[in-house]
Amino acid sequence: MDPLAPYFLGAFAENNDFFEKTVIELVRDHVFWRRNFHPEDLPPIGTADQYSPEYLEGVARTRHELHQLTAALKRSVPFFHPRYLGHMVSDLLLPGLVAQLVTTLYNPNNVVEDAAPVTVQLELEVGRQLATMLGFAIDPAKVPCALGHLTSGGTIANDQALFLARAVRLLPLAMRDALDSLGRRPETISPKLDADDWAHLNLPTRDILDLADTFHRDPELAKALAHTRVEHVGLGHFCAKHPLVANLAVIAPGTAHYSWKKALRLLGLGAANLVELPTRQARADSAALDTLLQTFARERRPVLMVMGVYGTTEFGTLDPLHELAALRGRSVDFWLHVDAAWGGYLPSVFRDPKGNLRPREDLRAEFAHFPSQRVYDTTAALPLADSITVDPHKQGFVPYGAGCFVAKDRRVFDLVLTDAAYVFHGDELGEQRYRSPGRFSLEGSRPGAAAAACVVNHRVLPLDSAHFGRLIARSVHTCETLSDALPAFAARLAPVATLAMPFDPDCNLLVFAVNPLGNRSLKAANAFGQRVMDAMSVTPARPVQLREFFGSCTTVSLEHLSADSAELFRALGLTEVDDDGVFLLRHTLMNPWLLSHPTEGDGSYLDAYLAFLERTVHELVTVVR
Ligand SMILES: *Cc1c(COP(=O)(O)O)cnc(C)c1O
Repeated sequence: MDPLAPYFLGAFAENNDFFEKTVIELVRDHVFWRRNFHPEDLPPIGTADQYSPEYLEGVARTRHELHQLTAALKRSVPFFHPRYLGHMVSDLLLPGLVAQLVTTLYNPNNVVEDAAPVTVQLELEVGRQLATMLGFAIDPAKVPCALGHLTSGGTIANDQALFLARAVRLLPLAMRDALDSLGRRPETISPKLDADDWAHLNLPTRDILDLADTFHRDPELAKALAHTRVEHVGLGHFCAKHPLVANLAVIAPGTAHYSWKKALRLLGLGAANLVELPTRQARADSAALDTLLQTFARERRPVLMVMGVYGTTEFGTLDPLHELAALRGRSVDFWLHVDAAWGGYLPSVFRDPKGNLRPREDLRAEFAHFPSQRVYDTTAALPLADSITVDPHKQGFVPYGAGCFVAKDRRVFDLVLTDAAYVFHGDELGEQRYRSPGRFSLEGSRPGAAAAACVVNHRVLPLDSAHFGRLIARSVHTCETLSDALPAFAARLAPVATLAMPFDPDCNLLVFAVNPLGNRSLKAANAFGQRVMDAMSVTPARPVQLREFFGSCTTVSLEHLSADSAELFRALGLTEVDDDGVFLLRHTLMNPWLLSHPTEGDGSYLDAYLAFLERTVHELVTVVR
C-alpha cells in the first residue's frame, strides 16, 4: 500500500467515503454543540417560519447562488491532479483540510486568547512544531527560546522579519539616546553602549536582546526607550540624529522573491537599499557577500539584514546558509533571515523521529543524488538564522491563508508588542505576554482555522523523516526521476530541438529551456518557449478539461545568469544574444502521484508529460518552419 494513500482526497476523490463521512460527522457534531449550549432557551428562528413562502424564497435564492458559484468554480485550476506541475500548490492534506472546514464553523479569531481559547494554543503549537523541525530550541526556561506565529502568507512573514530586524538592530542607538535624555551615562548600563554609532549598529543580536531585558526591567529606562526608538520618532527623525542609518542596507540574492522589495517600500527603508547579492547557479555567492560586507565596513554602511533563500520561488535552489551565517560579525554584524516560504518543510526529511539531524549517508541511501553536501550543510545551518519564513500553504499542503514567521529568540517580540488596551491585559513581563500572537503579529483578526489545519496535519504526520518527511521525500524522488529522464528525453527531441537545464535542481523544482534545432537567436528561442507554455497554461477562453497538462514558466535574466550563461547558450545552440533573459519551463513536482500510471501498462504521469511535451514541440516546430 502507498503510505500516503489515506492523507489526500485524491485525484479522483478516491477517499471520498472517508472524507464525506468525517465531514458530515463533524458538521453534525457542531450542530449538536449549538443545540446543547442552552437547550432550555426558545429558538429565535421559529419552526413554523420555516414553512412560510418568504422563508422558502430565501432558501431558494441561497441554493441558486451557491449552485451558480460551484458551477463557476468548475473553471478552477485542477491543482490536485498529477497532470498539474505548475505553481507551488497541489492536492491538500485531508486531515488539515477537514480541520480547516470544521474549525471555520466555530470561527475562532486568533487575535487574542479570549476570542480563540483553543486555536491560539494551536497556533503556538504550530510555531513550536515548525521551530523544532528547523532546529531551533523551544525550552521557555532557556535563552534563546524560539517562537513562531502564523500570518496570511510568506509576504507578511517577510514583512514581519524586516520589521523586527529593524526594531532590534536600531535599538542600541535608541538606548543611548534614552540614556542621554535621562542624563545617565551609557557605561552605567553596559560598556557596550559607550561607543560610536557604527559600533552600536554592529552589536551582536544576542547582546542587544540582553540589553533590552535590562531596559525593560527598569520602568524609567523602559519609558525613556519607548520615546527614542525609531518606531516612535519615525525614520526621518532617527536618521537626522544618526546619519549612518540613512543608508541602511538589506542584502538579498537576485533570486529573492518580490515581496522583499515590497517590504522595504512599506517600511520606508527604500527599495534602492535592497542590495543585490550576486548568485552562481541561482545560489547566493558567499564570496561576493564577504567582499560586499568588507566594502560596506570601509564605507560605514550599516547592514540591517542579510537574507538567504531556502528554496527560491523560481528555481527551487537553496542558498548556502552555512556560508552566509559564517560571515556574520566578521566585518559587520547583521540580522540573518531565511526565506524558506517554499523550502520550509524540506528539513522534515532531515529530522529523525527523535528530533536529531540524520547523517547525510542515511539520506544518500534513500535518493539517487539528494542531498548534495551543500544542501545538507545549508539545512544543518538553519538554526543559525535569527528568523525564518515558512509557508504552510505551499509545501505544508494546507489551504491558502497560512504563512509562518519563526524567530529564534522570542524576546524580539517584546520590541513590537502593541498596546491596545481594549484587547490586551494581563502582566507585561511574564510568560503570558507570548500567549497572544495577535499582540505582535502585523495582522489583527486572524483565522484560528488556519492554525487548526496546520496542527492537525503535523499531529497526523509529525515533521520528521518517518511521517511528513515521506511526503516531501516523494517530491524530491519525483524530481530526481524527471532530472534523470531528461538526457533520454533530450535525445528524443534532438531531431527537432535542443533542451538544457540552466541549474541542477536542489530538491523538487526543475526548470529547463527548449530551442528549435538550428535556431541561433535567444529571442526566437524565448518566443518558442512561450508557445510551448501556451499549450499548458490556464486561459479563461479554454476549459481546463481540454488541457492535457499544466505547467508554469519563468524567465531568468542574463544579469542573474552571468557566469552560467555561456554554458547554457552552448547547450542550446544559441549564438545571438538578442534578448535580456532566458525563458524557462518550470516544474513544481509536489503532487505525490506523479509517478503513478494513468493507464495500465504505460508509463507514469511524468512520462506522459514528457510525451506530451515531445508532441507539442514537434507540432510547434513544424508550424515555425
Ligand atoms: C511564495 C514565496 C513568498 C511569498 O509568499 P506568499 O505566501 O505568496 O505571500 C516569499 N518568498 C518565497 C521564497 C516564496 O516562494
